[in-house]
Amino acid sequence: MTIALADYVKAAEHIVVFTGAGISTESGIPDFRSPTGLWQTHKPIQFQDFVNSEDCRIEAWNRKFEIDKTIAKARPNKGHLALAELVKTGRVRTIITQNIDNLHQDSGVDEGCIIELHGNGTYASCLDCQTRYTLDDIKSAFTESNGMVAPTCRQCDGIVKSATISFGQSMPEGPMQLAEIAALSCDLMIAIGSSLQVYPAAGFPILSKRNGSSLIIINREPTELDAIADLIINQEIGDTLEALIKDLHM
Ligand code: NAD
Ligand code: ZN
Repeated sequence: MTIALADYVKAAEHIVVFTGAGISTESGIPDFRSPTGLWQTHKPIQFQDFVNSEDCRIEAWNRKFEIDKTIAKARPNKGHLALAELVKTGRVRTIITQNIDNLHQDSGVDEGCIIELHGNGTYASCLDCQTRYTLDDIKSAFTESNGMVAPTCRQCDGIVKSATISFGQSMPEGPMQLAEIAALSCDLMIAIGSSLQVYPAAGFPILSKRNGSSLIIINREPTELDAIADLIINQEIGDTLEALIKDLHM
């Protein structure tokens, strides 16, 4: 299977990779939809509820600081490192990611090659004036109020939110445009560790396929887009990408 993958990679001139939560589970970050995923215990908080209710904001920050006990310690795994090597050698030009964990950046991939569709959870920003805050900064303000007051912006008193895109929140314009350009310019799209159920993100592999590129899916379970894929690899991501690097050197 990985030989077939290597053949596609060798033949392609312009590869774009599309990643989801599955690439980070081997770093200890739970995904959403697996049996051990976050949604088994927590229903997501909608953006409108976050904006309209201080109780929801307090709940969101409590969850964020709880989950960060795991996420903040996470390091890139062999899947991220293999992708970083594919970017370094020029085989992969762009990584479009739905992930918010900063692990592609931490694996050494240049910021300019990464398109974050759902933001980044390693910092916070004001919804009104976009002033950026470190999570430590927000956490001390929150702790000082004994978890009773949701943090607000020191510049404009606006609502401060982790810099991720929540359900119901509009997608970030710049990354959406860049992802469209990338999807339309590749001749091979490899979707890795995504159930491909979340839109508009999952629209990008569809767009590239419709535009004539090949589509490979690496995911341990079937996905929503299996029917249009040229190659499906239902295996573990880290092992698969590590084997790919070896096959490319053969
Ligand atoms: P998802 O949870 O819907 O799907 C993840 C898929 O990865 C599943 O189908 C699962 O079978 C597969 N998978 C998990 N570990 C794997 C492994 N080691 N090898 C092979 N396959 C594996 O994730 P999604 O499609 O990215 O959508 C979830 C949304 O949640 C995204 O929008 C993302 O922003 C967000 N999210 C991000 C993180 C993160 O940043 N790490 C974590 C959870 C959720
Ligand atoms: Zn502000």
